[in-house]
Amino acid sequence: MKIGIPKEIKNNENRVGMTPAGVLELSKKGHEVYVQSTAGDFSGFDDKDYHAAGATILPSIDRVYEVSDMIVKVKEPIEQEYGLIKENQIVFTYFHFASNQNLTEAMMRSKSVCIAYETVEDKDGTLPLLTPMSEVAGRMAIQQGAKYLEKPVKGKGLLLGGVPGVPPGKVLVLGAGVVGIQAAKMAAGLGAQVTVLDVNMNRLRHVNDIMPSHVVTEFSNEYNIRKHLKTTDLVVGGVLITGAKAPKLVTRDMLKTMQPGAVIVDVAVDQGGCIETTRPTTHEDPAYIIDDIVHYCVANMPGAVPYTSTLALTNVTLPYILKLADAGWEKACDHDPLLAKGLNIVKGAIVYDPILEAFGWDE
Ligand code: NAD
Repeated sequence: MKIGIPKEIKNNENRVGMTPAGVLELSKKGHEVYVQSTAGDFSGFDDKDYHAAGATILPSIDRVYEVSDMIVKVKEPIEQEYGLIKENQIVFTYFHFASNQNLTEAMMRSKSVCIAYETVEDKDGTLPLLTPMSEVAGRMAIQQGAKYLEKPVKGKGLLLGGVPGVPPGKVLVLGAGVVGIQAAKMAAGLGAQVTVLDVNMNRLRHVNDIMPSHVVTEFSNEYNIRKHLKTTDLVVGGVLITGAKAPKLVTRDMLKTMQPGAVIVDVAVDQGGCIETTRPTTHEDPAYIIDDIVHYCVANMPGAVPYTSTLALTNVTLPYILKLADAGWEKACDHDPLLAKGLNIVKGAIVYDPILEAFGWDE
């Protein structure tokens, strides 16, 4: 199969859909890989690395779409790319169709085969192509939160880990899922006092089993959230109710009970955020202040660490890319029903019900 790797053109997206290691695996099996020149530059891979692994380097994005049977990328196509996608072409990437009607209609018109990373499932119902990005974002949440606690960026001027003779900061993690556990682990590593809240007792049991004793768990309810906010230095929002908007666990009135200069990192911003005052920000302008509380709400946190994120993403996508390339999408999806869950739009038809529901097209 001919596989194309275009350069991402969405604002501030520095990841790339495949590493030279992936090119090598595909080339060994007789597939042809076409990489747009400089596609991997921000992730630490230059054209020479791709060429050495067996790829053909093409000068423009148009050429990559033109020659490829399957496009592998990171973010959903943006308007400039809509017209490049061909009938029957496989597009394997993050789409998040339910939140983008323009994109949905454009991909239906293209008559391509859209397989979405975010709906491919594992045997246990988890989402294997989303997990690594939550791992990155959870770890980054503490890195960013610690930075925004510094005075020059309007934080309270607190060193999260403390020093001998001075106590460490307090971190409140909302949600004990992938983001929450990675955040708790990083915060604990810095020496902070960490509290993790969740409504799922099994998640709390797991955290309790694996974390050191300065990470404590409590059930997530309004009473406990209000209690902790009064003394918390850094709040991390990592809540998710699959397929729904995040619940607003911290309301505007609660901000007034927090200490001035405390920081909120709402990782759940891509599902609307679990803090009432959350609004999406970018890496160019990541933080804003409301009621003396610093809010960091970047919707694509992994984009800031493209080297790590590209490797983490392509580690998990490559086995599926190999299946699609070897067998073609129809046979690959027949053989692997969990990969088939990734099929969202096939040759003009929506085949993933939540998209129909999102736009009220299911009636
Ligand atoms: P996850 O499903 O692994 O974990 C979510 C957790 O929230 C679950 O344990 C669930 O029980 C818990 N939860 C649900 N309701 C709760 C409540 N009322 N109180 C406390 N906990 C509650 O999800 P995840 O992979 O950790 O992702 C969390 C969020 O982060 C998602 O919205 C995801 O899209 C987002 N995310 C954002 C970025 C970014 O760049 N901003 C990157 C990756 C993931």
